[in-house]
Amino acid sequence: MSTFAVDGAPVPLMRMDHDDEALFRELMGAVEQVARRSAFTLGAEVDAFEREWAAFCGAADAIGVSSGTEALVLALRALEIGPGDEVVVPANSFIATAEAVSLVGATPRFADVDPATATVTAATVAPLIGARTRAIVPVHLYGRTVELDPLLELARGAGIALVEDAAQAHGARYRGQRVGALGTLGCFSFYPAKNLGAWGDGGAVVTDDPALAERVRLLRAHGEAVRYEHRIVGTTARLDAIQAAVLRVKLRRLEQANARRREIARQFDAALAGAAVVPPPPPSDGHDHVYHQYVVRCEQRDALRAQLAAHGVATGLHYPTPIHRTGAYRDAAVAEGSLPATEALARTICSLPMFPGLSDSEIARIADAVHAFDPQGGG
Ligand SMILES: *Cc1c(COP(=O)(O)O)cnc(C)c1O
Repeated sequence: MSTFAVDGAPVPLMRMDHDDEALFRELMGAVEQVARRSAFTLGAEVDAFEREWAAFCGAADAIGVSSGTEALVLALRALEIGPGDEVVVPANSFIATAEAVSLVGATPRFADVDPATATVTAATVAPLIGARTRAIVPVHLYGRTVELDPLLELARGAGIALVEDAAQAHGARYRGQRVGALGTLGCFSFYPAKNLGAWGDGGAVVTDDPALAERVRLLRAHGEAVRYEHRIVGTTARLDAIQAAVLRVKLRRLEQANARRREIARQFDAALAGAAVVPPPPPSDGHDHVYHQYVVRCEQRDALRAQLAAHGVATGLHYPTPIHRTGAYRDAAVAEGSLPATEALARTICSLPMFPGLSDSEIARIADAVHAFDPQGGG
């Protein structure tokens, strides 16, 4: 039995909005206002959030949709990508990045990642671009910005689109500009645990291209610009007004929340020096990191997690199985070992607790628990 287990309350991977009583009350008030007006679908709250989100991202337009997955699907549909087309996605991401490609009837091609940053680069994507390729979907994984300029150049040279999956990187900047607005289209998720999270599912597409914005807007609501005038075949994929109201409140705190995440990361970086884990490389020049996750690497990862659990520290795996090794993509027939960086990451990564409400004493407890791990002693 560990001597550290009784040090204090367990540290969860994440604490949500009820942790902050003032914020919780403000959010309840925002939800009540929507409910009292019974204005649940589109309308003023969604319009206002779309304007505020576009302005925040530095994009000409934002369209609120029902999830991050739907944001990716509608972005690909707006680009008229479908059966027979290929889209390059990272093998090292949440499965939704690939699912969106499959859902429009196209074929995902899986790119390996840079072993240090865990994100795709022009070098890992370029070999997959062929005659059928219609788009690249880089993911700003864990909140770290992808090296976009060479990927944008690659896309331009090939005459294809670049769709940013910014579901983990709300507010992150690349060479001074917010992510999402740098590609042809950018897609966000407002799943509750994301850096900007709703009280349920939600998402957004941002773009500077008015024609693409118009298509996404039509697609998310049955092809309607005017009620019952269905110009194209769309779907039900609107952002709920209640979620828009919640997001408007939380957007006002996003910069501060991201700043706290960066500060927690700096504290972890310093406190973990000399421990038996490799901390994530800090962002390099021109890059940003909004630390959706703080992911360390350790060859004895499972023993490390068991040790942290014994000390009352929760950990996560983002993600335990590379997308091309999941049952869902069994048929993609990507041979084991062909994406070595992604596969090595899946074996060695470990996400530590990371959320703005993490206290300095909790950070110290987590770091102590990591230092107490002895890889030779097997924990
Ligand atoms: C969360 C996430 C998505 C999907 O968002 P949902 O809102 O859960 O549909 C897509 N891509 C990445 C990288 C994500 O982390």
